Amino acid sequence: MTPVLPLDNGSMATVKYRMRKPFIAANWKMHKTIPEALAFLSAFLPLVKDVTDVTIVLAPPFTALARVSEEVRGSNVRIAAQDLFFEEKGAFTGEISPVMLADVGCSYVIVGHSERRQYFFETDDVVNKKTRAAQKFGLGAIFCIGESLAEREEGKTFEVIHREIERGLDGVAPRGLVVAYEPIWAIGTGRTASPQQAQDAHAFIREKLRGFYGNEAERLCILYGGSVTPENIDSLMEKPDVDGALVGGASLKPEQFASIVTFGRKK
Ligand code: PEP
Repeated sequence: MTPVLPLDNGSMATVKYRMRKPFIAANWKMHKTIPEALAFLSAFLPLVKDVTDVTIVLAPPFTALARVSEEVRGSNVRIAAQDLFFEEKGAFTGEISPVMLADVGCSYVIVGHSERRQYFFETDDVVNKKTRAAQKFGLGAIFCIGESLAEREEGKTFEVIHREIERGLDGVAPRGLVVAYEPIWAIGTGRTASPQQAQDAHAFIREKLRGFYGNEAERLCILYGGSVTPENIDSLMEKPDVDGALVGGASLKPEQFASIVTFGRKK
């Protein structure tokens, strides 16, 4: 899995063999008007135009989805929404359906982000319905899980991850599924999980996914999220089960996010 290769200068380097194409997604949360989103794109797209070996995804707020989607058409960047409602249509004032997201050009949707669980009281059951609805209408679900600081300190990290996967992925197929491990204590705090903490959680998640999907689990990307920056992405991506990142704060600046997308290259 991690061959040691000779470099031009005669020294040896450990190179991670990847069986999954890295997947790096920006979660803009409630940031950026349409003009701000367009300004981001005009700086960002040229910086990543030659990147073919990473799936690059931007999740703008709902109001900018249609315009951003138009702007990235024909490029190597895909669009995600940050949330959805699980019904196709109907009397659900203020909600957005998976059909509408597909209609504006989304390929993915984030489900179960800890901010949705915490501030909007989304339960595992709601997250499960949203994940299934995304799949039903052809969207890839970026399914978020992760423990709080109190849960980690009480030694409940794996128990929480186990519960969120068991309930959240019940009846969900592996097609288009991406799992994001986001320890809540690391989100927006500047406190990143160490690469080994991330790997331990990801290996546990992979094992759970094997239980659900057998060998298909080897093809699924597991992203790490929580204060990812250009400085820490390389060491996280070296871990065997870290296949990418879901990035909040550092995805708002085009140069920073491009630097994360082009991880592992000398800058
Ligand atoms: C997130 O919102 O998914 C996230 C990981 O945020 P940040 O990178 O700012 O910690």
